[in-house]
Amino acid sequence: MSFMLGFDSHCHLHFNHFDEDLDAVVENSRKAGISHILIPSIDIETAEISADIAEKYNLYSAAAFHPEHLPEESAEEVEWLALKRVLLRPNTVAVGETGLDYHHCTFKPDKQRRWFRRHTELAEALGYPLVVHSRGAESAVLKELPTSLSVPVILHCWGGDESLTDIAVSRDFYIGVDGPLTYRKNNKLRRLIPRIPGDRLLVETDSPFLPPEPFRGRRNEPAYTRFITMGIRELWDGSMSIENTSYILWENAMRAYRLHPENRRADIVYRYGDSLYVNLTSRCQNNCSFCIRRSADGISSYYLKHKEDPAESLVLSTIEAFPIEDFTELVFCGFGEPTLRSDLLMKSARAAGARGVKTRLNTNGLCTSFLSDHQVMRLLHCFDSVSISLNASGTREYNRICLSSVEDSWEHLMKFIRLAKNTGIDTQLSVVKNSGVDLQRVKALAERLQMFLRIR
Ligand code: SF4
Repeated sequence: MSFMLGFDSHCHLHFNHFDEDLDAVVENSRKAGISHILIPSIDIETAEISADIAEKYNLYSAAAFHPEHLPEESAEEVEWLALKRVLLRPNTVAVGETGLDYHHCTFKPDKQRRWFRRHTELAEALGYPLVVHSRGAESAVLKELPTSLSVPVILHCWGGDESLTDIAVSRDFYIGVDGPLTYRKNNKLRRLIPRIPGDRLLVETDSPFLPPEPFRGRRNEPAYTRFITMGIRELWDGSMSIENTSYILWENAMRAYRLHPENRRADIVYRYGDSLYVNLTSRCQNNCSFCIRRSADGISSYYLKHKEDPAESLVLSTIEAFPIEDFTELVFCGFGEPTLRSDLLMKSARAAGARGVKTRLNTNGLCTSFLSDHQVMRLLHCFDSVSISLNASGTREYNRICLSSVEDSWEHLMKFIRLAKNTGIDTQLSVVKNSGVDLQRVKALAERLQMFLRIR
């Protein structure tokens, strides 16, 4: 049997249970139609391993401290920073699993709640979905979660009763169910399924734990997602095909993790070399023949195509949350022209500058078409350096290569270059060599302008 699309929305492939045969486990899951897997983690070490696995197999991961694996007090801030570094990795798309565990109670409830709040605030600041663990603490988890959260909440391996499930449903949370759904005696869990809207239910294996029938007592793995899916199908409508059931659950998980075209989250920041890049917009006045946006949605597994401009507050809280001091510089570049959001651009650059981080603006230099000279100078003074896309040696070549929607674009670009030079800020020009440009003429122009030319 094979599903076209399936999503194991919670699967701990990082545990050493999979050390010997991870390739085969992933291959088996694909053969069983599980096209997507989310690997949550429990601490820094497993967050890094999960991110490695996600990148290697083109899967997704989440990073957080599980309530049974919280940092020692003396290492709290160092580990928190390390966690944020993992959240910068391209396939790490959620904060999780965090939450409360009053069943094992390895740590005091106060400490658990403090860390749960911290994770919740971080998820909100970054716009990342939040994966929540609750054991013996379902009511407490619902009480802790703010009513105003703007990010999807995934209640993984849900064990709440009917009234708590109704509350979770009323708050639009996603609810994950696992292998125990298939256990003969588990009518309590089966009774919950009709109470959960069809677009809020997630299927998860929680591998290597909680194997479904008929694998009880053995290691669980993502290929067994289909056995839980079959259980859901029976409780929904036995006449629906297993492929359709799997597809609906796949779509739910895609929305829950903000991977679905309906609500896909584009990365606001991404790592490239030693620098951290900031992606403010996907809009641009040009449509250059060599632009990566023509052929891709992102760079090295980062998804960068904003459906609409990210909110100013989200951009600023993202920059604030991440350890930008780790990087040589913060580069405002992304998948569009950053000066189109000049106010936010200045606020963001100033925020980084206040933390002692070097900033660079990569621009097409066309903002003189909508900003006054004074405004342009103010903008430029927010940066330590500026890189301007020259891209051509004159008007005709620029129009041919850059297909600009700005009238007199070449003249605006030349004006911007003059203004940038006048600021005394470290300014360079750039050109893309295989774009059909006359490189010799561009080099000669850069020499006349007495500016450094970077050939890309
Ligand atoms: S100016 Fe930059 S972002 Fe805009 S189309 Fe050209 S290469 Fe792409």
